[in-house]
Amino acid sequence: MWKSTFYSLFALAVLTALVAAAETRPNILLIVGDDMGYADVGFHGCKDIPTPHLDKLASVGTRFTNGYVTGPYCSPTRAGLLTGRYQQRFGHEFNPGGGKQGMPTSEKTIADHLKAGGYKTALIGKWHLGSEPEFHPQQRGFDEFFGFLGGAHDYFNDKGIVRGNTPVDEKEYLTDAFAREAEEFIGKQKESPFFLYLAFNAVHTPMQADDARLKKFAHIEDKQRRTYAAMMSAMDDAIGRVLAKLKATGADKNTLVMFISDNGGPTMPGVTVNGSLNTPLRGSKRTTLDGGIRVPFVIHWPGKIESGVFEHPVIQLDLHATVLAATGAKVPANFEPDGVDLYPHVSGANKKPPHDALHWRFGPQMAIRMGDYKLVRYDTTADLDPSKPKTISPAKLYNLKDDIGEAKDLAASMPDKVKELQAKWDTWNSKLAPPAWGGNPAAKGQGKKKGNKQQE
Ligand code: CA
Repeated sequence: MWKSTFYSLFALAVLTALVAAAETRPNILLIVGDDMGYADVGFHGCKDIPTPHLDKLASVGTRFTNGYVTGPYCSPTRAGLLTGRYQQRFGHEFNPGGGKQGMPTSEKTIADHLKAGGYKTALIGKWHLGSEPEFHPQQRGFDEFFGFLGGAHDYFNDKGIVRGNTPVDEKEYLTDAFAREAEEFIGKQKESPFFLYLAFNAVHTPMQADDARLKKFAHIEDKQRRTYAAMMSAMDDAIGRVLAKLKATGADKNTLVMFISDNGGPTMPGVTVNGSLNTPLRGSKRTTLDGGIRVPFVIHWPGKIESGVFEHPVIQLDLHATVLAATGAKVPANFEPDGVDLYPHVSGANKKPPHDALHWRFGPQMAIRMGDYKLVRYDTTADLDPSKPKTISPAKLYNLKDDIGEAKDLAASMPDKVKELQAKWDTWNSKLAPPAWGGNPAAKGQGKKKGNKQQE
């Protein structure tokens, strides 16, 4: 009798401890902007577009000055973000063109892992990882979905906006609608921790903004930049609303908030040019120059990742790894992540840089960054020189610490460094899958196939 009472009490104590542990698991708010320029936030020095809410987030949280994504296009970097793996490992090198093209169902997402651990999960916004039923967000770990499945969307026309699978009658400007939906999702969470993936299509084309915000930027003469400013402002307003909702519900104290853009600003001909600026970086969306792959990158985790600046190179795959560690999520034994939990590095517990190298492959374009050095072959359309044919550059070597604008090629003067980086990249590349579809428009023999309409 005594024994069984003891064991019952012991079991109760264990259960209570487990419940208490479960309650301390943080909520996750992962916010992704689309096609933002590196220069276009206040915390990177932007003067003509106020972004007070993003600036506040960057001031209470840690700003990663060498924050990268795994590609210069929308869908590939989202595949990397959600799976925690370089997307070229599973053929997701380019944007899917519709039909049976989508993030392979062999890959598990961060939402799968968190949902399995009892999290309430939602995607609000852009998916862009396949439109067929098997690729639908609610088949990929998300309890709820409000938004659209493709790569871009009109901001005033609700055709294609769905809740789950059901078309909705949406009257609001799309960025405002996403803010409203995010507020509602946060407001109804009570017992379980939540994971909200808030994936804006702002500031991707089409360039459309509401009259009130356009009026705010009437002083900007260039119409495209004016519209872009209004769209950025709308996204910043939306982020402000969502962070305010976290505060109002008290969830802010236990929510890990992350913000990135999915790729660099599109500034060169042939891409979805939107009026963004990547200065002081060189290059654009669609290139492996830093302008295509280095993005605004912020994490705030109250009591853990707070006010600071982190300068070692990091990549969006690390957000996946950081979330898994923060939530104690269980993953399948055969899961091979490429990201690194950033918390020990930011807290100073681990003084080493998170990565010895970061790698990129986008058709014939490539890059590798090791420490301050970067080896890159890029789409020369980025050079904006109409007298030269558009091709892929020879391998160039830059020291990004001294030369953030990738202007001074050191390849000829540092051949050993070139060899070292090339060998490291070759090893990484040898383990990748061939692209499962599509191609880089600038790549020889990898042009867009007939009927393969990629949404940029
Ligand atoms: Ca994008």
